[in-house]
Amino acid sequence: MTQGNQTNGETLVSSVLIVGAGIIGAVTAYHLARRGVAVTVVERGKPAAGATAASFAWINASAGRTKDYFDLRQRSLLEYRTLSAGLSGGLPLDWSGSLIWDEEETGDLEDFATRYSAWSYESRIVGQDEVARREPALQDVPQRALLVPDEGSLHPVKGTLALLEAAKAAGARLVEGWTAARLVTRGEQVVGVETEGGEMTADCVLLGSGVDTQRLCEGVGLTVPIEASPGLLAHCKPHTRLIRHILITPGLHMRQDAEGRIVAGRTFGGGPAPNDRDVEGRRLVRDIKERLKGAEGLEFEAATVGYRPIPADGYPAIGFAMPGLYVAAMHSGITLAPAVGRFAAMEILDGTRVSLLEPFRPGRFA
Ligand SMILES: Cc1cc2nc3c(=O)[nH]c(=O)nc-3n(C[C@H](O)[C@H](O)[C@H](O)COP(=O)(O)OP(=O)(O)OC[C@H]3O[C@@H](n4cnc5c(N)ncnc54)[C@H](O)[C@@H]3O)c2cc1C
Repeated sequence: MTQGNQTNGETLVSSVLIVGAGIIGAVTAYHLARRGVAVTVVERGKPAAGATAASFAWINASAGRTKDYFDLRQRSLLEYRTLSAGLSGGLPLDWSGSLIWDEEETGDLEDFATRYSAWSYESRIVGQDEVARREPALQDVPQRALLVPDEGSLHPVKGTLALLEAAKAAGARLVEGWTAARLVTRGEQVVGVETEGGEMTADCVLLGSGVDTQRLCEGVGLTVPIEASPGLLAHCKPHTRLIRHILITPGLHMRQDAEGRIVAGRTFGGGPAPNDRDVEGRRLVRDIKERLKGAEGLEFEAATVGYRPIPADGYPAIGFAMPGLYVAAMHSGITLAPAVGRFAAMEILDGTRVSLLEPFRPGRFA
C-alpha cells in the first residue's frame, strides 16, 4: 500500500475527513468533492475564522526566496485564475499588482529584480516618475520600486466561504462547532478523529488545522513543528480610492480593497503579540495618513491579530505524514491554496506524487 492508499491506478479512497475550514480546508474540500469522494469538513469554530480571517492576503511569488518555493507560488498564482473561473460568481480577487521598495524585506532591489527575471517572473524596476504616476497619493515617492504586475490579493473570508459553498454544492458536508480532539489510529493507519460528537472515520484525514496541526500530529508520535507567529493588521473604514497597488514599503505594507477599506500591517516577520491591538491599529492608521495625501478623513475601523502557521524552517509542510494522514500546514496559505488544493486531491485520490511538492514534505522534520 502506498501512503496515499492507492494501488494499481485504482483509488481506494472514497471518503476524506478534513480538519479545519480555513482557506486550505476549503480549497481541498472543493477539489476533493468535485472528484466525487465523500468529504466532511470538521471545524471547531466558524469557517475562515483562524489565520485566514486575519490575513493580509497578498497573492505573490515575489516572497519566493528559493527556486523551489518560488515555483510552487508561481504555479499557485496561475491556479487562482482556473479556480476562480470554475466557481459561479468567481473569487473576490483583485489583480492590482505590487509595488515593492522595502529593501529590509527584499535585500538589494536590483539583485532581487535580477533573480526574479532570471526565473522569468514578470517584474521590473520603475523610477520615481512612474511610481508617482501610478500612486499619486504618495507623500514621499521612493527613487525606485519593483513593479510586479501579476500579483494581487483575495478577500480571504469571502473567498474561503465561496470555496466552501462550492464544495458543499459538490456534496461536501461541513460540521461546525466540533473539535478534532485527537487522531484515531488502527495499527499504523490513521482512520479518523475523535470529537465531542463521537468518532468520525474516513479513508484519509487531511489536516488543514493551521497552528493546531503540531498538537494533532504529536498525538500520533509525529513531529511537525509549527510556530504560531502573531501578526496585527489595521483595517480602515471605506474611503475613496487612495492606493492602487499592493504597497510593500519600509515598516508598512498596505492595500485598499474593492470596498475601499485600507488594510495595513508592519512586518511579515511576526514578533510579540501586541499588548493592545486597538492602540497599535490606530498607530498604523496614523502612519498611513502621514504617508498619503488626501487621507485626512481616513478612520480606524478595527484591528485583527492572527497567528500564522509557520513550519519550523519557514517552508510549507504538505503531504502524507503516515498512512491515512495528509498534512497541509503553511504560511502564505492564501497564495498557495489553489495549488495545494489541486495537488493534495491528486496525491490523495490518484496516488501520484506531485514533483512541485517534493521539497516540502512533512517527513523532513522527523
Ligand atoms: C497577519 C497575517 C498576515 C498574513 N499575510 C499573508 C499574505 O499576505 N499572503 C499569504 O499568502 N498568507 C498570509 N498569511 C498567512 C495565511 O493567512 C495563512 O497561511 C492561511 O490563512 C492558513 O490557512 P489555513 O486554512 O491553513 O489555517 P487557518 O485559517 O488558521 O484555518 C485552520 C482552521 O482549522 C480550525 N481548527 C484547528 N484545529 C482544529 C481542530 N482540532 N478541530 C477542528 N477545527 C480545528 C480552526 O478553527 C481554523 O478555522 C498571513 C497571516 C497573518 C496572520
